[in-house]
Amino acid sequence: MKVRILGDPVLRKKSVPVTDFSVVRSVMEELKIIMYQEDGVGLAAPQLGISLRFFGMDDGSGFKMIVNPEIIERSDEKEIGEEGCLSIPNVFADIERSRWVRVRYQDEHGSYHEELLQGYSARIFQHEYDHLDGILFIDHLDTKSRAALSQQLKKIMEDRRKNSEK
Ligand SMILES: [Zn+2]
Repeated sequence: MKVRILGDPVLRKKSVPVTDFSVVRSVMEELKIIMYQEDGVGLAAPQLGISLRFFGMDDGSGFKMIVNPEIIERSDEKEIGEEGCLSIPNVFADIERSRWVRVRYQDEHGSYHEELLQGYSARIFQHEYDHLDGILFIDHLDTKSRAALSQQLKKIMEDRRKNSEK
């Protein structure tokens, strides 16, 4: 498996819930390896071409597999922080996210968890959760900031197209 890059239609698809957890367990090790290799703090299934609702993340407290996540409550209070994405190489931008989120998810064995995430953990969760709905962090930029990145984004998409034709 390799990380899908901006312009790949799979990144824009809405993923479907996981029912067979053996699928998650079978890709977990590879997802983890790729995520750490690429210095990522999160990697969502669609980024590996899999349209299922799960992702891996590590906010500094260890690797976690997050399956069928839900955001059940979020703070109105927002926080701005820099984000990047393995699917949009070398692009970084300040993105506004809720300061905290209350989340529910299953692990790779299907057990349920509920947690209150704050700050950096909340940011990673929101970023990865977006991937499951085909949303990328650049979609949250205002018109002006998006325009400032447009050349860089175009170049990434062109390079991807050339590589996929090879
Ligand atoms: Zn991402």
